[in-house]
Amino acid sequence: MNPFWSAVVHGLTPYVPGEQPRLANLVKLNTNENPYGPSPRVLDAVRAEAADTLRLYPDPNSDRLRAGIAAYHGLTADQVFVGNGSDEVLAHAFLALLEHELPILFPDITYSFYPVYCRLYEIAYRQIPLTESFEISVDDYLTPNGGVIFPNPNAPTGRLLALVEIEQLLAGNPDSVVVIDEAYIDFGGESAVSLVARYPQLLVIRTLSKSHALAGLRVGYAVGQAHLIEALNRVKDSFNSYPLDRLAQAGALASIEDHAHFEALCAKVVASRTRLVVAMAEIGFEVLPSAANFIFARHPAHDGAELAASLRERSIIVRHFKSPARIAPFLRITIGTDAQCDALLAVLKAIVAC
Ligand code: PMP
Repeated sequence: MNPFWSAVVHGLTPYVPGEQPRLANLVKLNTNENPYGPSPRVLDAVRAEAADTLRLYPDPNSDRLRAGIAAYHGLTADQVFVGNGSDEVLAHAFLALLEHELPILFPDITYSFYPVYCRLYEIAYRQIPLTESFEISVDDYLTPNGGVIFPNPNAPTGRLLALVEIEQLLAGNPDSVVVIDEAYIDFGGESAVSLVARYPQLLVIRTLSKSHALAGLRVGYAVGQAHLIEALNRVKDSFNSYPLDRLAQAGALASIEDHAHFEALCAKVVASRTRLVVAMAEIGFEVLPSAANFIFARHPAHDGAELAASLRERSIIVRHFKSPARIAPFLRITIGTDAQCDALLAVLKAIVAC
């Protein structure tokens, strides 16, 4: 016990992000970053912004960026909230919209930051087991709750829930907020943003870290009806008035406006994913159907932790979760360039041949 720490801090088990090792020649397939660079227009915008304005505070409300995101989705700016990475947007959503008397619901296998936010904000939660095939079954969520949250596609499984099923969940759950975390939706899913106009309890959270190749800029956003966005703004303005710096606001807007680059990035990752899935199956891996920029795969004859360690010895880093036990045999592998995928496959082939 540290007498200077608050009771909340004593009770925290912080989230552990995937490592960011500084090793040369590493094939880094562990944190779902994009293997390609962002739009060149982002770099131009950041440079221009840095030229002479950094002595001034940024726009606290990120008005231009929110207008750009709203235009992209066919919404209005008061339906958009931006934050310092979607992790910050999620944190505000937990405090602003998911803290009620009843426990909130999320899958037992999902983004492991959710229980961390619950402990930080002392929110009760109940984890709903995924089905045997690692799918979310919407019926399991049609029970009284303080809110529902899950990623779509889910992480770390990569499995997608069809938009019709999300709509069933919304229709059957009118009295509490449903947060859909669309960190990976651009790699093969249909966004729930189209449902925002019809469902006042829907909040969709997205990030520029993956499909816009801007993990280093830290920009995420939420879209929902204005009354939900106002709740997020109330928390933000009680926490940090300037969550997005000038460079992030300028760069993110340029990226949102460069549709062609964005679409090309997504298409390249999806093509490499298709190729990798086929090649992994050929050497005996079972790969869950993925709509994300990563795959979740296991080999019936090899232990997940040992596979991850063997890859690491050959400078290839993937993510392995030792719990829950059901996912311990799996590796979560980010889709890299085809050359990176080939390097991975060469090592895996050698391992499974032994
Ligand atoms: N949601 C999910 C499901 C994620 O996997 C991640 C990435 N760790 C995030 C949100 C957060 O992404 P960011 O803070 O970079 O926007």
